[in-house]
Amino acid sequence: MANFPPPAHDAFRIDDLLSPEERAIRQKTRQFMEAEVAPIIADYWERAEFPHQVVPKLAKLNLGGGVLKGYGCPGQSIMGAAIANVEIARVDGSMSTFLMVHNSLAMLTIGLLGSEAQKEELLPRMAALQLTGAWALTEPSNGSDASALESTARKVDGGWILNGQKRWIGNATFADVVVVWARNLDTRQINAFIVRKGAKGFVTSKIENKIALRSVQNADIVMSDVFVSDSARLTGVNSFQDTNKVLAISRIMVAWQPVGLCMGVYDMCVRYLKERQQFQTPLAAFQISQEKLARMLGSTQAMFLMAWRLSKLHEAGHMTHEMASTVKAWNTRVSREVMAMGRELLGGNGIVSDFLVAKAFCDAEAYHTYEGTYEVNTLVAGRGATGISAIKARAQQKPTQVQA
Ligand SMILES: Cc1cc2nc3c(=O)[nH]c(=O)nc-3n(C[C@H](O)[C@H](O)[C@H](O)COP(=O)(O)OP(=O)(O)OC[C@H]3O[C@@H](n4cnc5c(N)ncnc54)[C@H](O)[C@@H]3O)c2cc1C
Repeated sequence: MANFPPPAHDAFRIDDLLSPEERAIRQKTRQFMEAEVAPIIADYWERAEFPHQVVPKLAKLNLGGGVLKGYGCPGQSIMGAAIANVEIARVDGSMSTFLMVHNSLAMLTIGLLGSEAQKEELLPRMAALQLTGAWALTEPSNGSDASALESTARKVDGGWILNGQKRWIGNATFADVVVVWARNLDTRQINAFIVRKGAKGFVTSKIENKIALRSVQNADIVMSDVFVSDSARLTGVNSFQDTNKVLAISRIMVAWQPVGLCMGVYDMCVRYLKERQQFQTPLAAFQISQEKLARMLGSTQAMFLMAWRLSKLHEAGHMTHEMASTVKAWNTRVSREVMAMGRELLGGNGIVSDFLVAKAFCDAEAYHTYEGTYEVNTLVAGRGATGISAIKARAQQKPTQVQA
């Protein structure tokens, strides 16, 4: 079952909403993912390894850099970048996260907030996927409350000394370029720095035993007196608010990722139900199976339309954080229902990663949590609805270390 089935998910001709350029991006990405990634990825996912050998082939699709213009980047529309992301996630959630972190977090931060010299030096090679990026905001003690981050940046002659810890940082075990967020000890504001692979005192270790996005190499990072030169500071970052310039776009991309997962699972299920028989009847002929398929299809198309509208609002300059959070939260919640139905429809094969449905079922869990958890994004949406923020509780306690 390594071959991916033909797409069956576009019942409402949603593809008609795409421009010819976006359709071309969709087509080349779909072909690449079905031919190069689908046949091998379950094995890599099982072994929790990243298939590095496909990166040079991925680079030929000219997706590196996404929406960034100039410096060798393709300057895609938001929809163009999103549709590539969707097609990648349709086959593999981990590969989609690899590119999302590289394009929509690391490269975007450098492109929007870096110096001219940083852009000229790094972006062309990152666009060609010769250099890989990672983006280090989250810390062991500061996840949802990332603005409380404790990593520090101390000014010294000719540069900065970074100290602290980061957690969950995607691509970080092998990344050439890591954007690190740290608190400036003079101003107490958040700044950002580019740390290069192999920097002294910068130690990454892979987070093992994940049940989701197993091919993504998430890392714990310890920074012990890491020296970076003055030229490594991202000059456009002067406070935590500047993260929002990047997250406004990356959150759109994350809202699209579960759409891709759902398309892939739906396509898999349609083929499986037509091929497999029980009681001398194709599974597809049972009414209960059809009810599940119909719900999956309706949800998948609705998710697409939500994310499409969000993308269009961004392109028109009308998107708010509340809108992005609403769609991210809604799409990840609904995708879990779609995954659960897909997993049920395959019976025992629904819990085996070879059929890719179980893999997607697990990967949806990570989408539900990262880039703002479901709960925190829902609270941002709730703040928009009520004008009252419920994100910070009134009763506050001293933090304690949690045990594994
Ligand atoms: C696979 C994966 C990849 C990631 N990649 C990156 C990366 O590349 N770079 C990076 O910087 N980070 C990354 N992250 C980190 C991610 O953004 C955080 O996991 C996320 O923000 C949640 O933080 P936490 O895990 O510490 O959970 P916590 O913040 O400890 O939350 C635990 C639970 O409490 C809930 N909660 C927290 N605050 C509130 C509140 N105010 N009201 C109600 N409920 C609340 C949460 O919703 C959650 O259910 C990644 C995470 C994962 C799992």
